[in-house]
Amino acid sequence: MKKSLILIAALAASVAAGAAVDPAMSRKVDSIMSRMTLKEKIGQLNFGGVGTPRVVGTAMGQDEAIAAGLVGAVGGSDPEAAYSAQRVAIEAGRPPLLIGLDVIHGYYTGFPTPLGLASSWNMPLIEHTARIAAEEATAFGVNWNFSPMVDICRDPRWGRIMEGAGEDPYLGSEVARAMVRGYQGDDLSDPSTLMACTKHVALYGASEAGRDYNTVCMDDVTMHNYYLPPYKAAFDEGAGSGMSSFNVINGIPATGNRHMLTEILREMWGWDGFIVSDANSVAEMTEHGLGDGQTVAELGVTAGCDMDLGSSHYVLALERAVEEGRVPQEVIDTACRRVLLAKCKLGLFDDPYRYNHRNHLRDSVGSPDKLAFAQQAAAASVVLLKNDGELLPLKKAKSIAVVGPMADEAGDLLGGWSLGYSRPIMHSLTEALRAALPKTKVTSARGANFTEDFSRSHQGGERPSAELTAEAVKMAKDADIIIAAVGEPSAWTGEANNRANPVLPASQVDMLRALKATGKPVVVVLMSGRPLIIPEIDEEFPAILQAWHGGTMAAEGLTDVLTGKVCPSGKLTSTWPRAVGQIPLYYNHLNTGRPYGDFWATTKYGDMTNDPLYPFGYGLSYNTYEYGTVSADKTSASGDDDSINISVDVTNRGKYTGRETVQLYIADPVASIARPVAELKDFQQVELAPGQTETVTFKVDTSKLKYYNADGVYGWEPGEFRIMVGPSSDKSVLQTLSVDWKK
Ligand code: BGC
Repeated sequence: MKKSLILIAALAASVAAGAAVDPAMSRKVDSIMSRMTLKEKIGQLNFGGVGTPRVVGTAMGQDEAIAAGLVGAVGGSDPEAAYSAQRVAIEAGRPPLLIGLDVIHGYYTGFPTPLGLASSWNMPLIEHTARIAAEEATAFGVNWNFSPMVDICRDPRWGRIMEGAGEDPYLGSEVARAMVRGYQGDDLSDPSTLMACTKHVALYGASEAGRDYNTVCMDDVTMHNYYLPPYKAAFDEGAGSGMSSFNVINGIPATGNRHMLTEILREMWGWDGFIVSDANSVAEMTEHGLGDGQTVAELGVTAGCDMDLGSSHYVLALERAVEEGRVPQEVIDTACRRVLLAKCKLGLFDDPYRYNHRNHLRDSVGSPDKLAFAQQAAAASVVLLKNDGELLPLKKAKSIAVVGPMADEAGDLLGGWSLGYSRPIMHSLTEALRAALPKTKVTSARGANFTEDFSRSHQGGERPSAELTAEAVKMAKDADIIIAAVGEPSAWTGEANNRANPVLPASQVDMLRALKATGKPVVVVLMSGRPLIIPEIDEEFPAILQAWHGGTMAAEGLTDVLTGKVCPSGKLTSTWPRAVGQIPLYYNHLNTGRPYGDFWATTKYGDMTNDPLYPFGYGLSYNTYEYGTVSADKTSASGDDDSINISVDVTNRGKYTGRETVQLYIADPVASIARPVAELKDFQQVELAPGQTETVTFKVDTSKLKYYNADGVYGWEPGEFRIMVGPSSDKSVLQTLSVDWKK
């Protein structure tokens, strides 16, 4: 029976989340602005870039432009240059500069790339990585971080999938909040915190066919329920700024998209921070077909994009736009006020050099405790995909052969979007294994190039893969066990590094098969920035570990997992397809009208099943965790304030102390619109010693039942809900309870 609608107005619910502006700061900004000319106000809306010799489109050099009040922010990759830029601004009587940088997964101490980090499902750990990143970056003068990247992505072809938390809005929101807390702490004016910049607003992860910068067309229901929640979570957590995305949203580029930047972010969500454009995206609106430089600058600022990163169109066009009456002065004032408020919150008006006077802290960068934490994070991100016959952890082998293009790589394990400072201290997997197992003979060989496609850059070595493989096989014959370190170099991941066919290239698959033919057991260790399509590897090899690109201590963290010092506990945050043709494949899909009672059945492909190779939430352990019967303290509830407790006993039936992530999904089988077959709504981690049992209890309240309906209204509808609990989104391992939630 169809439910009747009880929905709560989205607007009222979310406006409350917007933080009120501190009246003292507001007065301070009023007073500063009262002394500024229109030109100077527009100058605050310009990210000048450091190292850019000229302000684009003008004859001015960087310092001259800063002194003239034409620059509000600069890049922070060179701390001395940023400091000197700040001095120029202050000595010329200009407002202090924001100093921004992409500190995506660590500054000096590198952590796993975000997709790997998210696989830990460990929010305190993720928050702490952001805290360390903030401590290190601020010691080098950075006060503004272009992170977290919270773009939901269902497409492993997209190179930037590595920068986000995967496909799920709930998990993505938790990660977004943890990162904002880590960067910003409780007090933005504390000089060891920096301002977060939530990006890319919005929907960038849905770029068509995984091609970067590409078009996005999306209906409101999909947008509000599946793609926007992590941005909202980051803003609700207090993220001071956001970055617009490169893509077009329903015909209008994000940077000029008033519906997104003003109506949703400011009017609907009540957020009061400032938006910076993505690099050059104001100018790129011309390529999108929206008009000349003058027109797109006017479009951007009026839409709610407050600062122009990199194109200088605002400084070149906006004064004229105001004078000729096309852009109201009020629009410039609002944007300038947002930028100055951010500077106030950071305490820059009290001491513009507060982030530059921290040289004494530089010694603590990459300190042993931070590196130890990075090692822990690297181990926590590893996902055990297969372990037949308990091949792992490594038993007492006399000799191990480490083979593959990743066997002797060190710096590359840092991952894409890295500043690279810690590369010189990094170790390869071979080196880390040697250090951890001094009595074991550990040999290594490259075994193959990343690919034999020599038209690709970064494919690897000079010698043909067949030759490398033959050599490796000869060496591996003498070993007790082979660890095959394969995958993609980090240069294949990240911005503009899309792959139409994200498989393990033939050179590496051939190498793996040749190693298998030796008769020695082969453990496959995958290092990549994305889910790889590896049905043949799953079919043919007994043990597979997904290790991502694990940061500065990647090799040591992975070694801890291989040797059993750490029991693997990572779980996938993306669905891993069996073939490119299945993309997009995601667990929280809608039923078709012919579902045949199965999550994945629907109408089948003629040549392939619909189900994924590995589902969302999946990841094995060296232990077996036994789930007791899931129970509820009641099976019916009523009204907005009621709640139901769902409990399950989890017992560690293995030999290792380990961590299990217990997941709770909800389905809303009868609603006013079609709802997903399951949605993650909660999870908890339990640390269990061998034989130990813990009861995990989830409190389900109506916040877990709400969604945006076809009219954009956020609320819940009374009726039946299915609550599913288990170790992954795979229906066969979930226990389901039905509850009735009355009006
Ligand atoms: C990227 C952003 C980044 C910006 C500044 C752009 O190309 O899309 O994620 O923050 O550059 O470096």
